[in-house]
Amino acid sequence: MKGTLLSVVVDLARSEAATAPSTLSAESRKALDGVVLASVWYPLDVLGELLAWLETRKGPGIHRHAGTASAERDLSGVYRSFLRAADPAATLAALPVIWSLYHDSGSALVERLAPGSVDITVRAFAQPQRALCELTVGWLQAAAVRSGGPDVRVVEGHCRLRHDDRCRYTVAWAPTAPPAPGWAR
Ligand SMILES: [Zn+2]
Repeated sequence: MKGTLLSVVVDLARSEAATAPSTLSAESRKALDGVVLASVWYPLDVLGELLAWLETRKGPGIHRHAGTASAERDLSGVYRSFLRAADPAATLAALPVIWSLYHDSGSALVERLAPGSVDITVRAFAQPQRALCELTVGWLQAAAVRSGGPDVRVVEGHCRLRHDDRCRYTVAWAPTAPPAPGWAR
């Protein structure tokens, strides 16, 4: 995974650094103590290991929280050109490109189901793991909210970790109703 994604988790982990277990791998220790470069690729195991430890400190919501923090930072920063105001579907349509910027494995396919709903299917990811599935839910939720989607819900209906052949996320929001005809008069 790219350093852009890892750096969010490392930032969350640094506030807990004093409690880091001595069993952390050398790679995770190096990320925690050193500099995470946005443009460098890192092993996904580092993300999984740091989140597993953070979960023991901050609870199971930490994975989604990391995804939310990633989307909020990157969609107002390095990836802000993908953000479409008042149009969650248009922002999420960029997921195939955004996935390839974060990950060097797997691919994301976006399908528009109906106004106010898209499906995102992730296939052929080399290292499926719960930390990343949960993080992705948080990322998608924050991306849709930042794009102005009201009442956003994200469900991972299929998951490799539940023996499906893909992870499939449905992002739904309350579509903006067209103005009633009488309003124009
Ligand atoms: Zn999954």
